[in-house]
Amino acid sequence: MDIRQELADWLEFCRELGIEEFYRRAPGSVSPLPPAPEGTPVGVHGHAPLVQAVTKPVIAEGKPVVSAAALPKPVVTETKPLVGAAAAVSPLPAGASQTVVVAAPIRPPAPTLSLFETPPPKPSGPETLEQIRADLGDCLRCKLARGRHTIVFGEGNPHAELVFVGEGPGADEDEQGRPFVGRAGQLLNRMIQMIDMKREEVYICNVVKCRPPGNRTPEKDEIETCSPFLFRQLEALKPRLICCLGAPAVRTVLGIKEGITKIHGQFYDFSTSKALATVHPAYVLRSPREEKILREDFEKIREFLKGK
Ligand code: URA
Repeated sequence: MDIRQELADWLEFCRELGIEEFYRRAPGSVSPLPPAPEGTPVGVHGHAPLVQAVTKPVIAEGKPVVSAAALPKPVVTETKPLVGAAAAVSPLPAGASQTVVVAAPIRPPAPTLSLFETPPPKPSGPETLEQIRADLGDCLRCKLARGRHTIVFGEGNPHAELVFVGEGPGADEDEQGRPFVGRAGQLLNRMIQMIDMKREEVYICNVVKCRPPGNRTPEKDEIETCSPFLFRQLEALKPRLICCLGAPAVRTVLGIKEGITKIHGQFYDFSTSKALATVHPAYVLRSPREEKILREDFEKIREFLKGK
């Protein structure tokens, strides 16, 4: 075998044993390795295993035992005074120096983190909707996961000035994975058109991302588990106006428990955005007389967005 390859193999073997440092010997001080005593495992060239030699290094001054070309590229070369045990075994006069060559790893470091390493810090700055969606994953955080077909994360313009927050997906949304695509969604679309906007211009999402069984109102624990994702979405979107559709959205986003018919159409502060509450389109479908409220509030939205 080529001597360089043999040496590289030997260095790798040492490194696997945790031996990282190699020392220079004085010229002519390289003594042959002792022959292996009978019965011991035989190392390179029939000598005692090399580990015996490297665990008891002979420390001396001079040229490296091996030529630099045969070594992996050193990363550190430093001169240290001989101290302690090294000085005790050294043939050099007290106070002499040794040159320590720390070889570069033969193999590139593994990309995985050991148990004792901390992961690199997360990049700071605002999250993207894609990152939030990826974090939500195939969510099993609450009991709504059991009955859902599809997670309805939200959709629309990531730079929207206007964001709608509904309650939670219904059957059509659960099937299609998109918010407000059923009958309530069609009414919402009509309202959006009424104020001369397009659905693609706005962003639409819900308090909970999975359909509650039988379209029941989401429960406290489900809202508590899911709403952090909504808040992260709102933080990523930073819209000018958030329109809360129905009581669960109003309670979750604004923390207001009063009835919608009392507080609808008023503007509230939410972080750097404004927020307004109105009745849920599904409620209007059940009580068509209340469509007036929805129309009035949408006109307020139009006026608000006109003002720059
Ligand atoms: N109702 C909602 O609150 N959200 C939807 O996505 C659909 C209906």
